[in-house]
Amino acid sequence: MKGFSISRLPRIEFGDGVLKKIPALAATLGNMALIVTGRSSFINSQSWHWLRSALKNAGIDYATCSIHDEPSPELIDEQVRLLKDQNINVVIAIGGGSVLDAAKAIAGLLPHGDSVMEYLEGVGPEKTYAGPPCPFIAVPTTAGTGSEATKNAVLSRRGKNGFKKSFRDEQLVPDYAVVDPELLASCPPELIAANGMDALTQLMESYVSTRANRFTDTLALDGLVAAREGLLPWYQNSNNREARSNMAYAALVSGITLAQCGLGSVHGLASPLGAFFPIPHGVVCGTLVAACTQINIEAIRQREPDNPALKKYARLGALLNKRNYSNDSDALKELVDLLTSWTETMKLPKLSAYDIKETDFARIVANSRGSSMKTNPIVLTDEEIRGILVSRL
Ligand code: NAD
Repeated sequence: MKGFSISRLPRIEFGDGVLKKIPALAATLGNMALIVTGRSSFINSQSWHWLRSALKNAGIDYATCSIHDEPSPELIDEQVRLLKDQNINVVIAIGGGSVLDAAKAIAGLLPHGDSVMEYLEGVGPEKTYAGPPCPFIAVPTTAGTGSEATKNAVLSRRGKNGFKKSFRDEQLVPDYAVVDPELLASCPPELIAANGMDALTQLMESYVSTRANRFTDTLALDGLVAAREGLLPWYQNSNNREARSNMAYAALVSGITLAQCGLGSVHGLASPLGAFFPIPHGVVCGTLVAACTQINIEAIRQREPDNPALKKYARLGALLNKRNYSNDSDALKELVDLLTSWTETMKLPKLSAYDIKETDFARIVANSRGSSMKTNPIVLTDEEIRGILVSRL
């Protein structure tokens, strides 16, 4: 069997109502918390009032901070500057991937006070993070990014010369991932669609990644079963609790597998697209996953027909369509057809909806070969990457 290494995982609490465990978990880590939330969905809920008094009852004082968009390095540095003298010894993040990533970076830097720009991949000096971070509890309210299980915080500086890059270190993996599917009850259908396609893409990309292994394959396949059972049923009925739990699970597993194996061409393109244009991360994944899968399959068939990813894509076709095929060609075709039909059913917008034009493609392609593209199962040519964008304009 091919050897593999598995890096650190968070301790995991999963299930309806596990939010209630947070005060006791936090009390094992510290007595002065920073609670990081998003703009409104959690802080307008009963749970917010409950959490604040339960923390006080557990002897934990707290400061708060709220994150309203995908976080920038400047925002992280500003928050660290404001918070570093408050003796914070545990960070609790409750929100979508933006909140979790912001909190992960703040937790990493609070004990040290230096700028996150020192560590971001691909920009600046890329110093090695010495750590340790402040203890960190991650509580997702979207089912998509899996950030509750990963070692990176994605930060973006948007605009013409923008970038979207990770602050990454194994020490940044949360101490606890508290995944309570009830927190997802307020997600509207467009968020369910975009986030769900992010989780689906992460599972698929880590499964066919050049760094995939038997351990992560098992997890990814199970996560994909959950996504198959959860995504469309939850999108079509936001009160479907079983479907919602399946997606919370799929997202968690996608974070575990991506942290171990890396990703692929969808996430390679998500980096420049998210940096240059105001397009939400999940929408990038949802709009590109069928096209990227198709181009990967075509490229592998033409240039590397013995590449093991081809058989894996065929297996995904059978798994997601829930049927057996007498030959791989049919399974491969029906994989792409199914992804295309999910993209259409869930009305994922095309790139032009975000003012992306053909004249932007050269710049996007030139900036797509970051860490995610390096684990794509085949090296795509610039023309193939451009072809993906053309097909989704
Ligand atoms: P998000 O956190 O940006 O949230 C999107 C919107 O949903 C926000 O307006 C937010 O207020 C709202 N929202 C969140 N929870 C809600 C709920 N329960 N009900 C109603 N509204 C809710 O979106 P996201 O897709 O979760 O996170 C995207 C970010 O995560 C991107 O920056 C992406 O690059 C990053 N990401 C990180 C990793 C990682 O491993 N660290 C992996 C994938 C993506």
